Amino acid sequence: MIYLDYAATTPCDPRVIEAMRPYFAAVFGNPSSVYAAGQRAEAAIEDAREIVASVLGCQPAEVVFTSCGTESDNLALRGAAMARRLNSGATRIVTARVEHPAVITTVEQLVEYYGFEVGWLEVDSAGRVSPESASRLIDEKTAVVSVMYANNEIGTINTLREIAAICGRRGVPFHTDAVQAAAYLSVRVDDQGVDLLSLGGHKLHGPKGVGALYVRKGTELVPSMTGGGQEFGLRPGTPNVPYIVGFATALRLAHDEREQRIAHVRPLRDQVIGTVLEAIADARLTGSPVLRLPNHASFAFQGVDGNLLLTLLDAAGFACSSGSACKTGNPEPSEVMRAIGLPRDWGLGSLRVTLGKDTTPAEVSSFLEILPGLVERARELSRLAA
Ligand code: PLP
Repeated sequence: MIYLDYAATTPCDPRVIEAMRPYFAAVFGNPSSVYAAGQRAEAAIEDAREIVASVLGCQPAEVVFTSCGTESDNLALRGAAMARRLNSGATRIVTARVEHPAVITTVEQLVEYYGFEVGWLEVDSAGRVSPESASRLIDEKTAVVSVMYANNEIGTINTLREIAAICGRRGVPFHTDAVQAAAYLSVRVDDQGVDLLSLGGHKLHGPKGVGALYVRKGTELVPSMTGGGQEFGLRPGTPNVPYIVGFATALRLAHDEREQRIAHVRPLRDQVIGTVLEAIADARLTGSPVLRLPNHASFAFQGVDGNLLLTLLDAAGFACSSGSACKTGNPEPSEVMRAIGLPRDWGLGSLRVTLGKDTTPAEVSSFLEILPGLVERARELSRLAA
């Protein structure tokens, strides 16, 4: 199999696995225990917290470990929305329809069951959130604002600073989902001006099932889970020591090796984009041509069933994705395709090709050789089925 779906997940780096290994059995104590075995586990977590804090440019006490990016998004949104309503009566959540389901469905539940309202930010045809609409929508009635750093389906990068400044002036906590961004972009929280930032381990060669939420000092959150006092009372439950160590190691490696990873994937990505647009009729790039993740290429093909194309690619030995992995199997165009204004016959034919540090030029070349023929086949079959 040639793996071209690094936005869905990434293989664990062998250095990450090595760092995790002692904490499964040799150092197995409960970090809450007072004896030495527990304290060694506790020290490993605090070391991991310091590593994450150094990458984010924040205090260790501002890093909360969670079970995944989804949980980080949940804690940020639920926590801030509940706390703000309690403290100031604010009930509107402001976000955009291009967000990951971890944000969208959380907001929908807060609206349906918890009495919040939602204000939708406008996005342009590249999926970028409009700061003007942020300026119009965000006021003292706003409980929390959430704008993703980089989009998982179309790779578009948002400029967060302007929206952060609007939130700052109006005293509204600002959350960003940086789960996709952290593999390639700086996540220094003061550069972005965010109050809450979600991370996940498995998009950057760390393990699945672990993540973190940055919580700026002074940002009030009501915990979503109740239990013991772990993670400053914001995320109770015995911490997953090996995974936390693995996550911090992976984040540090992504940070230390960022330039070389970008230098590796960017030309390959440009080759994918250039060749696809040249060799395939009725194809367009989705997302921004400029402000996009350096490993991310995404397309829409008119009159093609995207899932059928994925099946043909799979049979030929290539693993790609149609929009977000969570949407696979859904015969409707994704919310993101709709939000960027793609007509249905384009939106159904989306393809995401995401590269990684282990992608080789030979893999990209063989993909580009086979893709035009498969798109034509999928188009023909989709026409016959219509
Ligand atoms: N947010 C974004 C932008 C994502 O791409 C993903 C994963 O697809 C998530 C959140 C969810 O992360 P996790 O799989 O760690 O729960």
